[in-house]
Amino acid sequence: MPLRVEQDIFVVRQLGREVARAAGMEQQDQTRLATALSEVGRVLLAAGHSADVVFEAELNGVPRLRVAVVSPQSGNIAELKLQLGQVGRLVDTLEVGDGEPGTVVWMARRLPASAPRLTPERMDEIRAGLSEHVPGTPLDELSVQNQQLIAALNEVRAQRDDLARLNAELEETNRGVMALYNQLSQELEETNRGVVALYAELDEKSEQLRTASEAKSRFLANVSHELRAPVTAVIGLARLLNDPASDPLADEQRRQVELISSSAGDLLTLVNDLLDLAKAEAGRMEPEWAEVDLRAVFGQLRGTLRPLATRPEVDFVVEEPSVPMLRTDELLLTRVLRNLLTNAIKFTAEGEVRLAVRTVDDDVEFTVVDTGTGIPPELHERIFEEFYQVPGSRAITGKGTGLGLPYARRLAGILGGGLRVASTPGRGSTFTLALPVNPS
Ligand code: ADP
Repeated sequence: MPLRVEQDIFVVRQLGREVARAAGMEQQDQTRLATALSEVGRVLLAAGHSADVVFEAELNGVPRLRVAVVSPQSGNIAELKLQLGQVGRLVDTLEVGDGEPGTVVWMARRLPASAPRLTPERMDEIRAGLSEHVPGTPLDELSVQNQQLIAALNEVRAQRDDLARLNAELEETNRGVMALYNQLSQELEETNRGVVALYAELDEKSEQLRTASEAKSRFLANVSHELRAPVTAVIGLARLLNDPASDPLADEQRRQVELISSSAGDLLTLVNDLLDLAKAEAGRMEPEWAEVDLRAVFGQLRGTLRPLATRPEVDFVVEEPSVPMLRTDELLLTRVLRNLLTNAIKFTAEGEVRLAVRTVDDDVEFTVVDTGTGIPPELHERIFEEFYQVPGSRAITGKGTGLGLPYARRLAGILGGGLRVASTPGRGSTFTLALPVNPS
């Protein structure tokens, strides 16, 4: 189609629409292509170009209708591109370039899947149809354009109504979401209030527990203190009765007095242990911090405990301390270690009982290792409870009160450290007292 004078723009527009329709485009796409074409024609003519419009069908890949508007004159491509910027939105692709010869504007628009295949026969048909086409007057074209405009306006209105409806729905949803949010916030607030109340109750309960525990410690301390004097008196009196300087006793009487004496001795041990534990629990024990010579402590333990480890089947080894000095309370440290060593000797029939010390990270760790009866894993924590003794475990020497380990753990805590056990039944136990190198 030639594009020479303004009148041709109408013809090109009409024929463009015809081609689009014949190729199978939908109504709106026909209008889009026709509008794009007349706009390109208008811009080119205004720029002083004359041109030819060529329609092509692209059948490979996605079927497209391509239009080339070819002008033999070359022109200002950048300017043309600027002027045709809006037109690009009406088609899928729009390119402006220098062709051979002159200026070429290419446009392409995809054909719908429902469009009939553009076979050579169909192309001939379209060509024949177009040649029969009688161009209408500009007035006809104006009326067609008006109708198209009305259709477009109707569509815009329908879209606007849709948008309004969608907005209303969105607002409704928003209101729902806000209501849900408010409800959730309220529930959260209520839950929070519940948690706060629960914490207050917990605080109150722990305060009650603390008071009860203090009362228990005070009671224990008082009772054991009061018991100590009469028990000591009983022991003294029994010793007097058995004294060779006293009146001689019959054999049976002597046996009974010895029984009184040993029972009173057990009782005194229990009372003393209870008193110690009560003191430690009441927080009345203030450690006396000093630089302690561990060689001296180990030497003293070696000396005082060797008499207890009398069986030749058991080696009692106190190593030379690899850490010579430690800032701690000597008396409390000695008590804990003596306690652990006494237990180890008590529960080891053969093998070895060994005390050692070494530095581990920021701690100094004392270990008391034995090859004795051992303790089942599920009881590793229970043995630190007051009066707890492993059922069926029988001390090889001496008796116990079940207060030694809880007391030792308390003391370890007072010294800023901790006491733990690792043990396998039948293989032995390792008690580890970890103390800080620098107690705060
Ligand atoms: P006691 O030794 O006076 O019974 P403890 O509190 O010192 O009380 O120990 C609690 C229990 O833990 C002991 O009765 C014993 O059953 C177990 N136990 C402690 N030390 C050892 C050990 N070295 N080997 C085996 N069992 C042990």
